[in-house]
Amino acid sequence: MPDIVIIGAGPAGIRAAETLAEQRLPVTLVDEGERGGGQIYRRQPAGFRRSYASLYGSEAGKAKALHDTFDRLKARIDYRPNTLAWNIADNVLHTVTGAVARRLRFDAAILATGATDRLIPVDGWTTPGVYSLGAAQIALKAQACAIGGAVVFMGTGPLLYLVACQYVKAGARVAAVLDTSPLSARHQALPRLLTSRPGLALRGLRLILQLRSAGIPVETGITPLAIANDGANVTGLRYRSSSGEIEELACDAVGLGYHLRPETQLADLAGCALSFDETSRLWLPKTDPDGRASVAGLYLAGDGARIAGADAAEISGRLAAYAVLADLGHGVPESKRRALHRAARRLERFRLALAQAFPWPHWLAGEIADEVLVCRCEKISAGELRHAATTLGAAELNRAKAFSRVGMGRCQGRYCGTIAAEIVAATCGRPVDGVGRLRGQAPVKPLPLATTAEEAA
Ligand SMILES: Cc1cc2nc3c(=O)[nH]c(=O)nc-3n(C[C@H](O)[C@H](O)[C@H](O)COP(=O)(O)OP(=O)(O)OC[C@H]3O[C@@H](n4cnc5c(N)ncnc54)[C@H](O)[C@@H]3O)c2cc1C
Repeated sequence: MPDIVIIGAGPAGIRAAETLAEQRLPVTLVDEGERGGGQIYRRQPAGFRRSYASLYGSEAGKAKALHDTFDRLKARIDYRPNTLAWNIADNVLHTVTGAVARRLRFDAAILATGATDRLIPVDGWTTPGVYSLGAAQIALKAQACAIGGAVVFMGTGPLLYLVACQYVKAGARVAAVLDTSPLSARHQALPRLLTSRPGLALRGLRLILQLRSAGIPVETGITPLAIANDGANVTGLRYRSSSGEIEELACDAVGLGYHLRPETQLADLAGCALSFDETSRLWLPKTDPDGRASVAGLYLAGDGARIAGADAAEISGRLAAYAVLADLGHGVPESKRRALHRAARRLERFRLALAQAFPWPHWLAGEIADEVLVCRCEKISAGELRHAATTLGAAELNRAKAFSRVGMGRCQGRYCGTIAAEIVAATCGRPVDGVGRLRGQAPVKPLPLATTAEEAA
């Protein structure tokens, strides 16, 4: 029997595991989280009793369907929760559960590792009270907590409005929603949004209307300037409005986020080829339409391949499982596969329209003041990075990392890498794909100090 491993128990990984288990193939599913569901369908901790409707809103039915599938599936697969996949090479996955390290040999691996927040530093962003947008949502979904008593959500992307609305619905006070994308971008993208996924596009518009009717200021085309503090906590926020006025707002917490970035480190460590995606200005693993990577036996699914949302993740999880089945010599239902491809193409059109509506504001890289920290782990400022890029001649990102230590800390550049590339590119006057990307390094996330034993799986 072949050894098949899936990394990630979100919508993509669960649908992949379900499809393979239906063919009675043995599957090992590892996830660093305690409970399956992934990000959007994150489960509340044991003992919390909020209803599906209150937790997942319009997506309650999909969340319940995925959770039910997973609960039935668990008995038929080797499910390993609380297990971090920290390296992958030569058909071996390296995992750690607690402090126990294990190696898992595989014939086929589906990487369904999802995404994390994409951030852009602003003066004061490391003050207590500033959270990423995703973290602000996790606080609400997992712990039923708001990040503050008067919260400003700032950044861009659909998640900005969704999280703000979830806060309002939960009874938290939202002081403002500040979007860096100009209104004109949304207007231009609207026809494409409406033709590719009319229901979802209208739901998005409703979110903005809900915020406005709750009396919450919603501004577009803004430029973040600074998050103010009293030496300890957030006290307010300064930004430039679309008309060029400098505005100040009082608040005690900020949720900051500019879309998401795929977790591509494992694909990178496995030697998969990546290519630059102009639309998102991100390096993405190269795959065929079924999710096959450039390395034999490796497959990608979900947001870890490209950010296309939960429905697309479920589809790509099934497609990747079909690709595994086909490559192992099993039959695949061709009509179902074709239908999944058709659906995936429609969702891809929506992804491109969303990127047009909410562009990643790479132009802010030039606005970040020299003294602002870019790399929180190593405490490297924008000025130090610019110095490495110009005075030390490091016009390539890994060289700038070697000279400045940007991206060399615990997060391995997962949070600072994309903006560091933009800063180096803007400083050197080069296109961002011309400065490269931070090479993946193991471990992809920190391991406990006590991790020593390496047991055979
Ligand atoms: C913080 C956050 C909040 C979001 N909220 C929403 C929302 O409210 N609405 C919405 O429409 N979309 C939301 N999204 C996007 C949405 O979650 C995704 O489109 C969808 O969940 C993608 O499914 P997936 O299976 O690809 O990845 P995910 O659902 O992200 O699942 C990936 C899984 O992989 C696991 N994993 C990752 N790396 C490793 C590793 N190295 N070792 C072991 N396990 C690993 C993670 O623990 C996770 O369970 C959110 C995304 C994020 C990051």
